[in-house]
Amino acid sequence: MHTAGSSETIDAGFVGKLAGYLGFEEEKVHHLFEKKYLARNWEEHEHIFRFDKEISHIERGTVFYEKDDSFEMVMGFPKIRRAMVLYPTLEKQFEGLRSVVVEEKMNGYNVRVARVNGEVLAITRSGYICPYTTERARTKLNPDFFNDYPDLVLYGEMVGPDNPYVPKEIYDVDSVEFYIFDVRKKNTGDPLPAARRREILEKYGFLQVKSFGEIPLETAPGEIAKIIRNLGKIEREGVVIKDPAMVLPSVKYTSSRSNCSDLRHAFKFYNESGRDYMLSRIVREGFQAVEWEESEAEFRKRCMQLGESILTPLRDSVQSVKESQRLYDEVRIRVKDLKTAVEFEDYLKRLGVDSVFENPEPVGDEYRITIKKINKSTNDKTEAIWRGELW
Ligand code: ATP
Ligand code: MG
Repeated sequence: MHTAGSSETIDAGFVGKLAGYLGFEEEKVHHLFEKKYLARNWEEHEHIFRFDKEISHIERGTVFYEKDDSFEMVMGFPKIRRAMVLYPTLEKQFEGLRSVVVEEKMNGYNVRVARVNGEVLAITRSGYICPYTTERARTKLNPDFFNDYPDLVLYGEMVGPDNPYVPKEIYDVDSVEFYIFDVRKKNTGDPLPAARRREILEKYGFLQVKSFGEIPLETAPGEIAKIIRNLGKIEREGVVIKDPAMVLPSVKYTSSRSNCSDLRHAFKFYNESGRDYMLSRIVREGFQAVEWEESEAEFRKRCMQLGESILTPLRDSVQSVKESQRLYDEVRIRVKDLKTAVEFEDYLKRLGVDSVFENPEPVGDEYRITIKKINKSTNDKTEAIWRGELW
């Protein structure tokens, strides 16, 4: 990665100022830069720092930049833990609440949109400024919001087929749309209560994730199981269960269908997928089979689906590489300005993503571009095995 972040690029006075702001010793700030746990974005966004690791309760992906005489911070989106079973998990995690808010969990990529020193920017989960997402956010979001609430940050999911990270056709989205699921304050990261968030976002005509309403905690496991079965049928991912006041941490629960679809992708590129990502999705199937008191026939069906979602992509990948074909992911983007595509190509290169951009095709007043993302690590590993190397 080319991210400038070594301590030589930061002068001593600045380190002192930074240390004061973050409440860290200067030594620690130096150390964070050296380890690249704290790094800069690049070129026109060089002034935006990002945390590449969770440090003293600062979420990974948190960014900050100089503003007036101090700094301003956009907190990363907190990790949402997974419920393996609904009962007694909800009762335990939301103890003391009368009800919980249940929202659809949409499957795309996590984005924060904020105004940073006068400019609307889209920040990825890891704290990079994505040029593609920034262009989309600027064309889609009513800028009045940022004039009226300069200290609020929109947290949402970019979903749809024109999506370079997680393309999905399952939503009623023709290209790509930004569905908001959270609004938080700059600096503190304090979230707005769910009802207040919905009310404000509605005023600006922003898209929001579907809400299944507030459900009494006592009946929530049964109600959510029903919601999940229905969502699974239409290939939707699952739900996020939230404290209406947004004080207690949210919990996610996903459909079997979406576990299998995640696994299919993960095993296609088995050598780049996170072990924990794969394992948690497999183990969850075991818990769901018990929680839902399945018949033997239903259980057999689950076994088939799980097994197929693991082995089919694996077999296909292994076979392709054996036949000397490169494994790749085909995705597409849609841009207004071809300059955005060039910037995005440079951006992916910087992140070490090996990709090939095809020629733009005009669609209305925009352009669609197909991108082949080469998954080098799975390719190399599979080739090596076919050459007789050991695991
Ligand atoms: P993490 O829990 O750290 O985000 P992960 O990357 O494995 O881990 P997912 O399993 O996709 O993430 O689940 C969490 C993500 O779901 C959030 O980061 C967010 O991008 C997305 N999401 C979609 N819909 C919602 C929603 N309604 N509320 C909160 N998050 C949502
Ligand atoms: Mg996701």
